Amino acid sequence: MFEILRKSLKTGIVTERYPQTPPQISPLARGRPEIDFGNWKDARPAAAVCPTGAIAYSDQGGERATTFDLGKCIFCGLCAEADPAIRVTNRCELAATRKTALQFSATYKLLPDGSHERLLSAPSPAPSSRVPRSPDPAVENLGRKIRRRATDIFGRSLHIREVDAGSCNGCEIEIVGLTGPVYDIERFGIHFVASPRHADMLLVTGPVTRNMELALRKTYDAMPAPRLVVAVGACGCSGGIFGTNYATRGGVDQVLPVDVYIPGCPPNPHALLHGILLAMGRRRLSLIPQSDNLII
Ligand code: SF4
Repeated sequence: MFEILRKSLKTGIVTERYPQTPPQISPLARGRPEIDFGNWKDARPAAAVCPTGAIAYSDQGGERATTFDLGKCIFCGLCAEADPAIRVTNRCELAATRKTALQFSATYKLLPDGSHERLLSAPSPAPSSRVPRSPDPAVENLGRKIRRRATDIFGRSLHIREVDAGSCNGCEIEIVGLTGPVYDIERFGIHFVASPRHADMLLVTGPVTRNMELALRKTYDAMPAPRLVVAVGACGCSGGIFGTNYATRGGVDQVLPVDVYIPGCPPNPHALLHGILLAMGRRRLSLIPQSDNLII
């Protein structure tokens, strides 16, 4: 026993101070790809190699509309190998409360050889991402009150039920990392629980296989309100590499209302913590840069 104590004292505290301090991420880690939209000359090579359709384009009337969907991206880096205007970064704090906040679009003038000329419109969340304003201010006020109440409730402590709705278990390995001494999610008062009856948050991984759809719905129904749903990883956000097919539904929001999306394949523990804290209201803003930056 004294030997264990001596070892522990020698090791010291290993727990990270995130989010008080920035995440310590290896420069070799694969995170969000960044596209230099201002100098992007041709979307075709990257779109051709992208296995999930995260980078796409359409040509019409002498213009090319390009889109980048972070929710579909599996951080494989193939686009960066095919296109010098794209580089893979190690940025991981990417969670967002709206799926459309992960989608970016830019328009270019098209050249006869199929490449781009100049940027016609700066990258911005795709048109479909513009959230329509509620015509009724009373509804907006009610929504704000409910959100404040939910933050008051969840801001102090949170119980999470995790459901694997068909993942490869990559996300589960990262989630397990949250409970170790390095990330130690319990320092926030956050605990994983076995029963949905005790849970405030449903953490869902996988593209939601049709075999798991009913189980997922039943788990959600068994949770007491108010409840939060967090979609984890590219599969949870959009179906990822599987998309939508005979066996999968193509993302958690096809089955349940989602409060926070955490991109990544898999998202590392920092990314998961960022998303969970964002859902709890402790981190109010996603760190995704807005359209004033040409490199997104
Ligand atoms: S890193 Fe993302 S955008 Fe690039 S090729 Fe892979 S999935 Fe597509």
